Amino acid sequence: MAMQSPVEFFKKLPKKRCPECGQHMEEQAESYFMECEHCLSKKAE
Ligand SMILES: [Zn+2]
Repeated sequence: MAMQSPVEFFKKLPKKRCPECGQHMEEQAESYFMECEHCLSKKAE
């Protein structure tokens, strides 16, 4: 089995996904919201 580079390892980690629209999100350490910015802005109204 070939050694995996750390970069490849992190690429294969599942991305955070918005439960509202299913859109993949950038993982943000400061963000504790489950939804993406788009859905959050809709809820904010
Ligand atoms: Zn969303």
